[in-house]
Amino acid sequence: MERDGRMRAEQNYGGLDRFRMIAAFMVVAIHTSPLLSYSADGDFLLTRILCRVAVPFFFMVTGQFVVSDFFARPGRAFEKFWRYIKKTAALYGISILIYLPLGIYAGHYEELTTGSIARMLFFDGTFYHLWYFPACIIGVTLVYLMSISGMKIRVWLGVSGALYIIGLLGDSYFGLLKEGSLLHHIYLQGFQIFSYTRNGLFMAPVFLILGAMGTQTISLNFYRNYIGLALSGLFMVAEGFTLRHFGLQRHDSMYIMLIPTAIFLMKALFTWEGPSSKFLRNTAMWIYVLHPAMIVVVRGAAKVLHLTGILVDNSLGHYLAVVSLSTIVAACLSKWMEKGGKKEEFPCGRAWIELNKTALRQNVAALRKRIPDECRLMPALKADAYGHGALLMAKELSGMGVDAFCVASVREGALLRRNGIKGEILILGYTHPDLFPLLRKYRLTQTIVDFPYASLLNRYGKKIHVHIGVDTGMRRLGERSENVDEIYNICRMKNLIVDGIYTHLCADDALKKPEMDFTNRQAYAFYQVIEALEERGCPRPKIHLQSSYGVFHYPELAEDYARVGIALYGVLSTLEDTEKYKDILKPVLSLKARVASVRNLYRGEWAGYGLAFKAEKDMKIAALAIGYGDGLPRQLSGSAYAVLIHGRRAPLIGRICMDQTIVDVSGISGVKAGDVAVLIGKSGEEEISVCDLAKETGTITNEILSRMGARLERIMV
Ligand SMILES: *Cc1c(COP(=O)(O)O)cnc(C)c1O
Repeated sequence: MERDGRMRAEQNYGGLDRFRMIAAFMVVAIHTSPLLSYSADGDFLLTRILCRVAVPFFFMVTGQFVVSDFFARPGRAFEKFWRYIKKTAALYGISILIYLPLGIYAGHYEELTTGSIARMLFFDGTFYHLWYFPACIIGVTLVYLMSISGMKIRVWLGVSGALYIIGLLGDSYFGLLKEGSLLHHIYLQGFQIFSYTRNGLFMAPVFLILGAMGTQTISLNFYRNYIGLALSGLFMVAEGFTLRHFGLQRHDSMYIMLIPTAIFLMKALFTWEGPSSKFLRNTAMWIYVLHPAMIVVVRGAAKVLHLTGILVDNSLGHYLAVVSLSTIVAACLSKWMEKGGKKEEFPCGRAWIELNKTALRQNVAALRKRIPDECRLMPALKADAYGHGALLMAKELSGMGVDAFCVASVREGALLRRNGIKGEILILGYTHPDLFPLLRKYRLTQTIVDFPYASLLNRYGKKIHVHIGVDTGMRRLGERSENVDEIYNICRMKNLIVDGIYTHLCADDALKKPEMDFTNRQAYAFYQVIEALEERGCPRPKIHLQSSYGVFHYPELAEDYARVGIALYGVLSTLEDTEKYKDILKPVLSLKARVASVRNLYRGEWAGYGLAFKAEKDMKIAALAIGYGDGLPRQLSGSAYAVLIHGRRAPLIGRICMDQTIVDVSGISGVKAGDVAVLIGKSGEEEISVCDLAKETGTITNEILSRMGARLERIMV
């Protein structure tokens, strides 16, 4: 079962989540020096310079998710702050316990004094890598205090920048301080309190604040971010080697260039697309916590297995062993924790949609069989994939080799991109000029809805991929097919990359003469345009005319794409049409809900709103946890429609409510709360088709499906 990721998909955090893993691998590298067996300089470059970006990255992510709210929503700042502190302290506590035996074994806790305990707890960490947790706690607390002081964000940035400089002088730049000078003396005193200046006071705040500001300053320029990252990284390498050359480093965690490098890294990561992943987040965190223990395990195991040569003495072998073991253990741990958390997310508790993967696969195969090999499916995922859940559908279809989709709006397209859907995504509808930047950001293809719109889009000034809509008779969108000059001019517009041209057939469902004549005239007008463009020397873009009915009724019109919607979901618009193709199209969607309560209704009593139902005899009724707020049409009240429980029909009683529906279960024995009612789909021998609902309410299946509520959960089975 796969959950619909819509809730978490609003922002583009997939890149951050994936880089967390890389950053965790970097931290392991810092503690195992993978290149040491081969080159001391190489190892210095990798672990003492490049991998140093990992910890600032983690601070910035915390800034992004926690600290940003201190500015953006001061009213909720304390709540957010306190929750973070509690969580981090708990994690720190667990880590302390995990490492207590190792610390004792290594003799870390001999000669303990109050001072050394405090120093360990607040700054150094009770085990070497654990300094990070108190640093987070102190850094976030410091920034929280700044935020409630009422200072502007720029001022804090200044303050935290100054703290960072103080930190630099105790770290990579320590050698600049003259021995015996007052400053030198002050630093030596400081080192009584903390062993390093890379801690929550001096290092964390600046990255926390930069991370928090990151949300407001995301640049969309893909290349500039990467060039910036490469250049600042390069300068950081130069800085590191220079400092080492002059022997200035007391420690090597902090560089000046670490700041721009970390900023560019974050910006670049925001342009990575992909779903955010709690699993990767947790795995990276556990790799961080557990890898020192895994170092011990690898050493022990190597000794037992007599593999010390490659697993310990060879630095690369050692690193790979530690990384793999840490990753496996961390992944198992977060999978296990995920399972514990899943209980909260049980998707079939109230009312839900089940999507049948096998049916979808059959429909895709059936449709592909009806179009030539050169023609590709371009499924219509508009209106949340006709209520099926666009993301679930897109993922499933991508897995079946589909690489082109159409949607109605930028928002629908962006949702797919942010969740890692590849291939062409064509927006069939209008996009407001204020949203033009998103076309580029999410690499969406825009439909040219008419000539003035093309001019507007061209004036935007940046290259946009488009398909030209041609109006051949629907009189909705597209430039009129008679206006060949205009269409030709659109093709020549400097900023429009014309990948395709298409028309939409508006009477292809009916097989009567007037409609068929009309459709053939539409096709003729369209091909006239194509020919005229060819004569004028325009390169031939992809062309397409068919939607679902076109594929069945006009197979000769197959070109580069078939924009299939309703048929892909296993039905056609009406009951009659669906019957005709029921051997090849299988309904993908089932609609189900729980029985919430079963009770008696006595003769003469009413049930539901508005005294619309009166019992003529004693009966048993059940309330179902689904209503018109979930997309079940209220119009069905009083119709012949009945739901299925235990494979038997349970007629509706009274009016459908927003969240509930009452049904008659007198004829069905043993119905109890928690049972499943099928509103669309199969139960036992019985089946209710979405066509039945459409027929009862005087509409087409497309409308019933696309109005399925956002409140419904969607699962693939
Ligand atoms: C919705 C839509 C489709 C898909 O239509 P179906 O009849 O569901 O296959 C194709 N083309 C355009 C322009 C559409 O708006």
